[in-house]
Amino acid sequence: MLPLPPLVLVVNSGSSSLKFTVLGADGGSALVSGGAECLGLPEARIAFKANGAKTIVELDRNDHTGALAAIFARLDADGLLSRVAVVGHRVVHGAERFSASVVITPEILAEIEACSPLAPLHNPANLLGIRAVLEALPGVPQVAVFDTAFHQTMPRSASLYAVPMSWYRDHGVRRYGFHGTSHRYVSGEAVRFLGLPADDHGIVVAHLGNGASATAVLNGRSVDTTMGLTPLEGLVMGTRSGDFDFGAAAHVARTTGRDIAAIETILNKASGLLGLSELSNDCRTLETAADEGHEGAAIAIEVFVHRLARHIGGLATSLPRLDAVVFTGGIGENSARIRALTIGRLGAFGFRLDEAANLACVGGRIGRISTGRGPAAVVVPTDEEGLIAADAAKLVGLGEEPAPARRAV
Ligand code: ADP
Repeated sequence: MLPLPPLVLVVNSGSSSLKFTVLGADGGSALVSGGAECLGLPEARIAFKANGAKTIVELDRNDHTGALAAIFARLDADGLLSRVAVVGHRVVHGAERFSASVVITPEILAEIEACSPLAPLHNPANLLGIRAVLEALPGVPQVAVFDTAFHQTMPRSASLYAVPMSWYRDHGVRRYGFHGTSHRYVSGEAVRFLGLPADDHGIVVAHLGNGASATAVLNGRSVDTTMGLTPLEGLVMGTRSGDFDFGAAAHVARTTGRDIAAIETILNKASGLLGLSELSNDCRTLETAADEGHEGAAIAIEVFVHRLARHIGGLATSLPRLDAVVFTGGIGENSARIRALTIGRLGAFGFRLDEAANLACVGGRIGRISTGRGPAAVVVPTDEEGLIAADAAKLVGLGEEPAPARRAV
């Protein structure tokens, strides 16, 4: 009997959550996925999704090691654990050290740790997941895939802040960008879908989820992006402000007596769509509320679209030619309204919306939503797990990049 094909386990370890997906090393859809929540709390639990069914299990041990033990027990029961040939980890910050995915060694672990001051909430949580897998599966290779890596090709004109250069030299203060795995995957898929030459294209990808960022991609390389040293800069997000005048932050500090940490928390957790609408961080909820006359919801959508269109216009100046704007992420893939409003603001570039195609392009479909001779507007569902699995498989000599089957409209 032929041996069963090898599998990749993709792990996204956060401070109180751990998400996982098991995929074939040569791509395809998830065999089983899920995630643990409330790690560190008594109510910690884990959900498993397979074949359209979801089961929830309480965790005996409420930390990352306990979550992985539950995942391994489930994979073992399903006969999948012995087929896991490599583990791919999402790592948030790779600073200037990592411009591509790498096989994890003790030296690489130390270097990821050295990047932690730039992402004090995220990298230590990613490391918890890596160390817990190392302990449980010592013989299985592990790969780190960085959110920042794709943006390491940005020229210094785009990556530097106009602040004293000593901040950059001494403290690494520069723009790094995030969502790189999504921007890399989606830009590649869009270029293929539109039949653009791999070495001659200029596109802007808008990843619009709870976090949101847009990137200018020139011939497969990131040349500018909206997020900065942290994911706070740029577009309006679910609860993050995006761009915000530091002078205004100083004014709030002086007038309310809040310190930097308190203001940072408000800008990350109580701003964006939530702060503007005073209702919700969820775009779908806001669209419904706006239809029912909720003024805050309408304002939140207006500011979100204004900022997005303004950034797309700005990013286009890093490209010799704008071939396409690509929408992805929960909002980009599903909100025909946000896409229509945004394309409506980009008339100066020659975009013309195909209204019927825009309305039809929801729920994980890839498709073109523009018409006419101007640049294309397209929707491409993201697949960060798929790309992490493909990188991990490739780095240990298994499989090729997956090309997930999508329905075109
Ligand atoms: P995350 O960044 O947490 O992965 P997602 O990419 O899943 O987030 O995006 C979540 C966002 O997508 C939410 O604001 C949600 O309201 C929005 N969204 C999902 N479906 C729709 C829809 N049909 N219409 C409008 N917004 C939607």
